[in-house]
Amino acid sequence: ADVVSAYAAPDERDVETSLRPRQLTEFIGQHRVREQLEVLLQSAQRRSRPPDHILLSGPPGLGKTSLAMIVAAELGSAIRVTSGPAIERSGDLAAVLTTLAPGDVLFIDEIHRIARPAEELLYSAMEDFRVDVVVGKGPGATAIPLDVEPFTLVGATTRSGLLTGPLRDRFGFVAHLDFYDPKDLQKVLMRSAAILGVRIDAAGTAEIASRSRGTPRIANRLLRRVRDYAEVRADGEVTEEIARAALTVYEVDRVGLDRLDRAVLDALVTSFGGGPVGLSTLAVAVGEEPGTVEEVAEPFLVRAGLLARTPRGRVATPAAWAHLGRTPPPGSSA
Ligand code: ATP
Repeated sequence: ADVVSAYAAPDERDVETSLRPRQLTEFIGQHRVREQLEVLLQSAQRRSRPPDHILLSGPPGLGKTSLAMIVAAELGSAIRVTSGPAIERSGDLAAVLTTLAPGDVLFIDEIHRIARPAEELLYSAMEDFRVDVVVGKGPGATAIPLDVEPFTLVGATTRSGLLTGPLRDRFGFVAHLDFYDPKDLQKVLMRSAAILGVRIDAAGTAEIASRSRGTPRIANRLLRRVRDYAEVRADGEVTEEIARAALTVYEVDRVGLDRLDRAVLDALVTSFGGGPVGLSTLAVAVGEEPGTVEEVAEPFLVRAGLLARTPRGRVATPAAWAHLGRTPPPGSSA
C-alpha cells in the first residue's frame, strides 16, 4: 500500500469512521468554509427550511465526506450516501430521490462522474423538488411527474472543472477545501492520537504534520504507521526522533510527495529539462489524464513551491531540482 496516497484504501474505512469529526466545532482548520457553513445551516434552521444545495470541492482526503456528515448531524437529519459512478441510470437516481424523507441530506461523492441522463434528472429535483420518470419505450413512453421531498444535496468533487455549468449553477453554496497548514494538521494529529490512545509529543506531531502533504487522511495514516514503529522499536511513545526514524523506514518523502506528485516532478525535470511543457504533454509522460494531473497533483506541488504554472507551460522550480537532488542545466528557466 502507498502510505502517502491521499485516496482511502478499502480497509481503512473503519478507522477513518472512528476518527471522523462529528460536529462543526470538532472540524479542525478550513476556518472560512466552516464559518460560511455555520451561517448557512443556522439560517436555514431559523427559517425551518432545508439549506441550499452544497458543493464541496478539493483534493482527496481533506474532509469532504466528513463535512457532508456534519451537515446532516448539525441539521438533525438523516443522510443518504451514494456516488456519481454508482448512478448509472436515471432510474437509479429516481429511486433514491423519491424515497427521501423531508429534510434529508443526500450526499453524492464524485458527483462529476454522474451519467448525463441522471444529471438532467437531478436538475429538476434540485430546483423544483420534482422529477419526471419516463416509463416505457418508443412512441408509448410517458413521463410521470413525481414529487421529491425538500432535501439538501451535498455534492463532493475532486474535479470541479469537470462539472457542467448547469449542475454547478444549481448549488447555492460552493466551498473549496484547501490543503491544511502544518499547525492545523498538528491539531488533527493530537485529536486522533487521543482517540487512538497513542502517546505523542508536540515535536512528534510536528514531524508527521510536515510530511503529510497538507492532508488529514495522510496525517492519520502516518500516525498509525509511526505508532506501530514506536510500539515495536521503542516504548510506544512517539517523539520527533521516533517519527523521523519511522517515516524514513516507510520511505515517506521529506515533504510528503506521493507517487503521482513525484512522477510529475520527475518527468518535468528528466524528460523536459524542467519545462516549460504543456499540461497534456506532461500528462502523457506520467500516463494520467490531464485533469488528474491538474486537479490532484498540481495544487499541492504549486503550494509546496515545486512547480509553477506559467503561460508557456509547467516549470520545475529551483526547489524541485534541489528536492530531486539534481542541478538545473545552465541557462534553464529554473
Ligand atoms: P475523499 O475525497 O477521498 O472522499 P474526503 O475529502 O471526503 O476524501 P474525509 O474522508 O472526510 O475526506 O476525511 C479523511 C479523514 O481525515 C477522516 O477520517 C478524518 O478523520 C480526517 N479529517 C478530515 N478533515 C478533518 C478535520 N478538519 N478535522 C479532523 N479530522 C479530519
